[in-house]
Amino acid sequence: MLMGHCLCGAVRYEITSEPLGMAYCHCGECRRATGSAFNTTLFIARDGFRIVAGEEAVGFHESSPGNQRHFCTRCGSPLFKHNPVNPKFMSVRAGTLDSDPGVRPGVHVWVSEKAPWYEIRDDLPQHAQGPPHPPQG
Ligand SMILES: [Zn+2]
Ligand SMILES: [Zn+2]
Repeated sequence: MLMGHCLCGAVRYEITSEPLGMAYCHCGECRRATGSAFNTTLFIARDGFRIVAGEEAVGFHESSPGNQRHFCTRCGSPLFKHNPVNPKFMSVRAGTLDSDPGVRPGVHVWVSEKAPWYEIRDDLPQHAQGPPHPPQG
């Protein structure tokens, strides 16, 4: 089982299902939501995810229709995202994991919105657009 937590430790979660894949998302929403060049995201089945502590500290921002980005309201850590359009799956911000999920990022998505100051230096497939957050890689 995988576990993870936010920067301040208020929010803790566990993942009981097998990870479905990882991706680097370069879309403008992910860049701003993470404050970084890209978002490294872990795709999982939604029924394998559970918040075990700090549920009252979790807030979300709907960055575009349906895209609910959840974060810790105490420390600001981005934690996970889901979209009611795709109810069986969700994505977890890989930087908040406590241990190795056993999968590796397999694809760059939304490269059309990549930060101009960041250069991709690996050989993974690149997609100009999404879909940004279904299981892939
Ligand atoms: Zn926190
Ligand atoms: Zn994105």
